[in-house]
Amino acid sequence: MNIAIVGTGYVGLVTGACFAEFGLKVTGIDKDKEKIEMLNRGEIPIYEPGLEEKIKKYMAEGLLTFTTDIAEGVKKALVIFIAVGTPPKEDGSADLSYIDEVARSIAENMNGYKVIVTKSTVPVGTGERIKRIIKEHQKEKVNFDVVSNPEFLREGSAIEDFMRPDRVVIGAESSEAIAIMKDLYSPLFLIETPFVITNIETAEMIKYASNAFLATKVSFINEMANLCELVGADVHIVAKGMGLDKRIGPKFLHPGPGFGGSCFPKDTRAIVQIAEEKGYDLSIVKAVIGVNERQRELMVEKIARVIGELKGKKIAVLGLSFKPNTDDIRESPAIAIVGRLKEKGAKIRAYDPAAMENTSKIYPDIEYASDPYDAVSGCDAMVIITEWNQFRNLDLERIKSLMKKPVMIDLRNIYEPERMKKLGFIYDCVGRVRRSEFAKEKRDD
Ligand code: NAD
Repeated sequence: MNIAIVGTGYVGLVTGACFAEFGLKVTGIDKDKEKIEMLNRGEIPIYEPGLEEKIKKYMAEGLLTFTTDIAEGVKKALVIFIAVGTPPKEDGSADLSYIDEVARSIAENMNGYKVIVTKSTVPVGTGERIKRIIKEHQKEKVNFDVVSNPEFLREGSAIEDFMRPDRVVIGAESSEAIAIMKDLYSPLFLIETPFVITNIETAEMIKYASNAFLATKVSFINEMANLCELVGADVHIVAKGMGLDKRIGPKFLHPGPGFGGSCFPKDTRAIVQIAEEKGYDLSIVKAVIGVNERQRELMVEKIARVIGELKGKKIAVLGLSFKPNTDDIRESPAIAIVGRLKEKGAKIRAYDPAAMENTSKIYPDIEYASDPYDAVSGCDAMVIITEWNQFRNLDLERIKSLMKKPVMIDLRNIYEPERMKKLGFIYDCVGRVRRSEFAKEKRDD
């Protein structure tokens, strides 16, 4: 079967490579000429573990091709996935202009029955909107079906998530479209992946409800962590104690600087907006967003509490991407925190295994180091903001010897407070050390 995927970003590329692995003939389409030229030269525009090997393999086998020509891609495909961005508009609602543009192009190039599938995260009602646009712009009146097939992959483990998902959600109206979608995903059927087959609106809602719930867990544990610091409790043990309750579960109970990335911030704002349009106040999700914004500010206050006056201090920042194993810095807490530290007069020396190039477009004026040791050299303090594996086992004696002062603020709770104290570090993290430890009178400025 021939399929097309419009949008060759994180979702489009992973989806394309994985469907090629399922034996389908995939055309990846993007309007970004530079991106398509890179791909055709065998260069992968993003960092995602395992993706490059897969793309190269299936390009060589002729199962995966890339083009900017949407007409060509649409004409030969039975199924067309839309995987373009749906960024937030000023008011928080999803910008559907890319989706609309693609729907118009598909309509103009349809030469027979097609299944048009949204993989992008789109507000409830977008399926209907696509149907309307296609009907209005079709040159030839041919039959088509619109399907919602939201994507749940996580950057950094996207291939594994696509190949072994917790579930596949298919929202469709016709049995023909459902049968085609099941056929596409048949390798996942064989490994007993649960399929949720429903109507389009419900499928669209499942994606937003899932992301809003996960974001809620993050903001919830962050609030608990903040309270732990005030009452002298250890949030790690609190999260463990909570997570052992099967009704709660241990996942997404890791405190830190707040959620970021291209999905949670955007999708929580969008679902609030969807509710508002219907006259409903989605108060829990609004609070989740508020807590997340405040968490970044609280992290800056924490850094200032430990270090003292920030003006003129040299701070090493380890980790810039919004999470490990990706070069994606969209809405990354690290980017926000670096910005605030700069405003307060701190000098930043940063290191990230994959995200320095992207960050240098936003902050060309900070120093970039070649590794974590180079980053901390001569610094007054270091802050770990993203938990890359290579930061988990640093040679702490070496770090100490390189720093001007052994001060570590570990916003991902990688290290044990007691051990760090024994090693002679002034150490703080999130929700594990009593806040009064860093009272001004105790600090040696
Ligand atoms: P991205 O920004 O990485 O990629 C989008 C691509 O679409 C870009 O390459 C862009 O050039 C292309 N594009 C835009 N308009 C186009 C057009 N008219 N024709 C052809 N190409 C066009 O985005 P992404 O992170 O892959 O996300 C895509 C969608 O999937 C979003 O709705 C997002 O919310 C959703 N999603 C993302 C993730 C994730 O982890 N990134 C996970 C699940 C769902």
